[in-house]
Formats: sequence, structure tokens, C-alpha cells
Amino acid sequence: MPLAVNLRHLEAHNIDLEGSLPIEELEIDTRDEVIQVRQPLDHDLEVQKLEDGLLVQGRLHLVLECQCVRCLKPFQYHLKLEHWTCHLPLRGEDCVTVTSDCVDLTPYVREDILLEFPRHPLCNPDCRGLPGTSVGLSRNLSGTGKTEVGSPAWAELNKLKL
Ligand SMILES: [Zn+2]
Repeated sequence: MPLAVNLRHLEAHNIDLEGSLPIEELEIDTRDEVIQVRQPLDHDLEVQKLEDGLLVQGRLHLVLECQCVRCLKPFQYHLKLEHWTCHLPLRGEDCVTVTSDCVDLTPYVREDILLEFPRHPLCNPDCRGLPGTSVGLSRNLSGTGKTEVGSPAWAELNKLKL
């Protein structure tokens, strides 16, 4: 648990967590072919003990390796949460799990990072797709039907039918 705080230490003073978390530790599953994560998560967080919970505030920065959904160009997306705030209750129904005085912040960071993932990554908000060819290509695909029948997927299906 590298991104964890010790509650005993928090009794005495706030804790700063600054550094980078290896992606294996973050265990992020993008479930998306056009978004990959290969670099560690940079974080600079301050954890504060409140009456009945923890308050985590700070900065998260993760570089995503994306593929533009329009032009298919690979590009880097900088996911930045400059003022991330997370309140973790220590009591009640939704309270956090405490393991030998430590609270792992990783799941909460992961959850909020996933929420910030771009739905349709674009290399540029004005991206118009593949230069020159995109319009013709999409017409072909939705138009005559000729392209679809000839595509490998359809060939496989036809084989199955026979
Ligand atoms: Zn693009």
C-alpha cells in the first residue's frame, strides 16, 4: 500500500504524500482500446485528520496514451486534477477499511481518475479525421454495402452459415 496513510501518524500532524505511483499499484483498467496507461501517477496530496474522517486534498496527474477516435493518431492526454478533494469517513456505513492503522487511498484515487477519462479521445477538439479520405471512407462503409460484404468479418460469418 504505497499510497496509504497511517492513522497514528495523522493524530500528530498532517501527512504529505508526494511522488509517483507505479501504474501496477494503481491497477487501473481502462477497459478501452483507445486509452492506455503506461506512466506512473504523479501525486501531491495532503491528508488531514478530521473529527470522524480523513480529508485528502491535492493534485493528481496522469498521462494517458490515447488514440484519436477520428483520425486514429496516437497522442498523449494529460489528465489533471489540480484540486482533488476526497472525504473518507472513518465511521458509519461507508467508512474506509483500516488495516493495521493504515488507510489505502489507492481505490479512491483510481475511482476518481477513471471518472475523468475522456469518453471520446480527440487529438484536437477540431480534429476532422483522416485528411482527405475520411468522408469517402465513411460513405463507402454506410453506403453501398459492398465494403461490408467484402470485409473479413462478413467472410467469416458466411463461412459459418455454410
Ligand atoms: Zn484526430
